[in-house]
Amino acid sequence: RAMRETMDNVAHDFRTPLARIRGASELALNDQHMPANLSETLADIIEDCDRVQLQLQNLMDVREMESGFVKLNIQPFNLKQVIDEIIDIYQLFAEEKKIALTASCPGDGIPVSGDRHRIARALANLVDNALKYTPKGGAVRIEIESLPAEVTIRVIDNGIGIPENEQSLVWQRLFRGKQSRESEKGLGLGLNIVQVIIAAHGGTVTLQSAPGQGTTFEVTLPQNAPAA
Ligand code: ATP
Ligand code: MG
Repeated sequence: RAMRETMDNVAHDFRTPLARIRGASELALNDQHMPANLSETLADIIEDCDRVQLQLQNLMDVREMESGFVKLNIQPFNLKQVIDEIIDIYQLFAEEKKIALTASCPGDGIPVSGDRHRIARALANLVDNALKYTPKGGAVRIEIESLPAEVTIRVIDNGIGIPENEQSLVWQRLFRGKQSRESEKGLGLGLNIVQVIIAAHGGTVTLQSAPGQGTTFEVTLPQNAPAA
């Protein structure tokens, strides 16, 4: 228990300095007189900050979920804005990996009601995976479809895919695919958190994948999350 408490504290304490490092780097990156090699380094720093931030947040989410009680802060928000923010955060990383990261969204606004931060985190985890498990030169596309009572978000990549025997296991906490373990870093927490967050909103998340061809994750959320 002491170890867990320490871990919680570390996760919390890292957040503020990390945000500060990111903020300062972003500010410096906006300076037009910055030499190109320095800009690249700054972009790397920002990208590292974002990924560590997501991992810290994942750790804290898992700890909270372990308590068996996840409190959602349900409010109306614009899903399109959340997607734009995610694209913005991951664009640098995508460019560096020569992956085309795009989103197609009907109209300017997709009003939903839910826990904005948690839904953003769930979608960020899907985009993080899509970019991580897609080789150089690939493409990652986010599609949003708005229906009268629900909204569907698809994160589509043309990456390494998930072997059939692993497809039902990826939702388990700490599970990592064989090929992924060998080539990429990770804790195996992302998809577990995605599933819990989406289910807590009364939604569903499913995957379709063909090894060597790509993977599509499909999230369906009710336009209005249940209040409880
Ligand atoms: P973490 O998200 O904690 O950093 P992770 O990415 O390995 O680590 P999850 O996001 O939970 O963990 O994903 C579990 C496993 O599912 C991955 O290790 C990988 O094998 C597989 N996976 C997830 N998304 C994709 C994808 N888009 N393409 C191919 N494999 C995927
Ligand atoms: Mg992941």
